[in-house]
Amino acid sequence: MLKEMDHRYIDEHSVAQRYVGNALEPQERVEFETHLVDCQECTDRVLLAEMFHARKAEEDLPLRARLAARVKPWQMAVIFALTVLLLTAIPALLVPVLLRWLH
Ligand SMILES: [Zn+2]
Repeated sequence: MLKEMDHRYIDEHSVAQRYVGNALEPQERVEFETHLVDCQECTDRVLLAEMFHARKAEEDLPLRARLAARVKPWQMAVIFALTVLLLTAIPALLVPVLLRWLH
Protein backbone atom coordinates (compact mmCIF):
# COMPACT_ATOMS: atom_id res chain seq x y z
CA MET A 1 0.00 0.00 0.00
CA LEU A 2 1.29 3.41 -0.95
CA LYS A 3 1.97 5.89 1.78
CA GLU A 4 -0.66 8.58 1.54
CA MET A 5 0.59 11.98 0.47
CA ASP A 6 -0.10 14.83 2.84
CA HIS A 7 -0.21 18.52 2.13
CA ARG A 8 3.06 19.19 3.88
CA TYR A 9 4.82 16.83 1.50
CA ILE A 10 2.95 18.29 -1.48
CA ASP A 11 3.93 21.84 -0.57
CA GLU A 12 7.50 21.11 0.46
CA HIS A 13 8.20 19.16 -2.71
CA SER A 14 6.23 21.41 -5.10
CA VAL A 15 4.32 18.30 -6.16
CA ALA A 16 1.50 20.16 -7.94
CA GLN A 17 3.96 22.27 -9.94
CA ARG A 18 6.04 19.25 -10.88
CA TYR A 19 2.88 17.30 -11.74
CA VAL A 20 1.95 19.99 -14.27
CA GLY A 21 5.49 20.11 -15.57
CA ASN A 22 5.56 16.32 -15.97
CA ALA A 23 8.50 16.11 -13.62
CA LEU A 24 7.19 13.66 -10.99
CA GLU A 25 8.62 10.22 -10.36
CA PRO A 26 6.15 7.56 -11.55
CA GLN A 27 5.34 6.56 -7.97
CA GLU A 28 4.89 10.14 -6.81
CA ARG A 29 2.57 10.69 -9.74
CA VAL A 30 0.39 7.73 -8.82
CA GLU A 31 0.28 8.83 -5.18
CA PHE A 32 -0.59 12.38 -6.09
CA GLU A 33 -3.28 11.39 -8.60
CA THR A 34 -4.80 9.11 -5.99
CA HIS A 35 -4.88 11.99 -3.54
CA LEU A 36 -6.08 14.47 -6.14
CA VAL A 37 -9.31 12.57 -6.83
CA ASP A 38 -10.69 13.48 -3.40
CA CYS A 39 -8.97 16.75 -2.69
CA GLN A 40 -10.41 20.05 -3.89
CA GLU A 41 -7.50 21.91 -2.37
CA CYS A 42 -4.99 20.07 -4.52
CA THR A 43 -7.20 20.36 -7.58
CA ASP A 44 -6.94 24.12 -7.03
CA ARG A 45 -3.18 23.79 -6.61
CA VAL A 46 -2.95 22.00 -9.97
CA LEU A 47 -5.16 24.55 -11.73
CA LEU A 48 -3.02 27.35 -10.35
CA ALA A 49 0.17 25.58 -11.33
CA GLU A 50 -1.25 25.06 -14.82
CA MET A 51 -1.98 28.76 -15.19
CA PHE A 52 1.51 29.60 -14.00
CA HIS A 53 3.00 26.93 -16.26
CA ALA A 54 1.16 28.26 -19.31
CA ARG A 55 2.34 31.80 -18.61
CA LYS A 56 5.89 30.63 -18.07
CA ALA A 57 5.82 28.67 -21.32
CA GLU A 58 4.79 31.85 -23.08
CA GLU A 59 7.64 33.75 -21.46
CA ASP A 60 10.09 31.14 -22.67
CA LEU A 61 9.15 31.80 -26.29
CA PRO A 62 11.63 33.94 -28.17
CA LEU A 63 10.68 37.61 -28.13
CA ARG A 64 10.22 37.68 -31.89
CA ALA A 65 7.70 34.84 -31.81
CA ARG A 66 5.69 36.62 -29.12
CA LEU A 67 5.76 39.90 -31.02
CA ALA A 68 4.81 38.17 -34.25
CA ALA A 69 1.83 36.62 -32.50
CA ARG A 70 0.62 40.06 -31.45
CA VAL A 71 1.39 42.04 -34.61
CA LYS A 72 -1.35 41.96 -37.25
CA PRO A 73 -0.49 41.33 -40.94
CA TRP A 74 -1.19 44.92 -41.99
CA GLN A 75 1.03 46.15 -39.16
CA MET A 76 3.80 43.88 -40.43
CA ALA A 77 3.35 45.42 -43.89
CA VAL A 78 3.65 48.95 -42.47
CA ILE A 79 6.76 48.01 -40.46
CA PHE A 80 8.27 46.39 -43.56
CA ALA A 81 7.53 49.43 -45.73
CA LEU A 82 9.04 51.81 -43.14
CA THR A 83 12.15 49.64 -42.85
CA VAL A 84 12.63 49.58 -46.64
CA LEU A 85 12.06 53.34 -46.79
CA LEU A 86 14.64 53.99 -44.08
CA LEU A 87 17.19 51.63 -45.61
CA THR A 88 16.93 53.38 -48.98
CA ALA A 89 16.54 56.93 -47.66
CA ILE A 90 19.61 56.89 -45.43
CA PRO A 91 22.14 56.02 -48.18
CA ALA A 92 20.37 58.42 -50.56
CA LEU A 93 20.91 61.23 -48.04
CA LEU A 94 24.42 60.20 -47.07
CA VAL A 95 25.90 59.70 -50.54
CA PRO A 96 25.77 63.38 -51.63
CA VAL A 97 27.25 64.42 -48.27
CA LEU A 98 30.05 61.88 -48.63
CA LEU A 99 30.75 62.92 -52.24
CA ARG A 100 31.03 66.58 -51.23
CA TRP A 101 33.28 65.65 -48.34
CA LEU A 102 35.58 63.65 -50.65
CA HIS A 103 36.05 66.46 -53.18
ZN1 LIG B 1 -4.73 17.70 -1.17
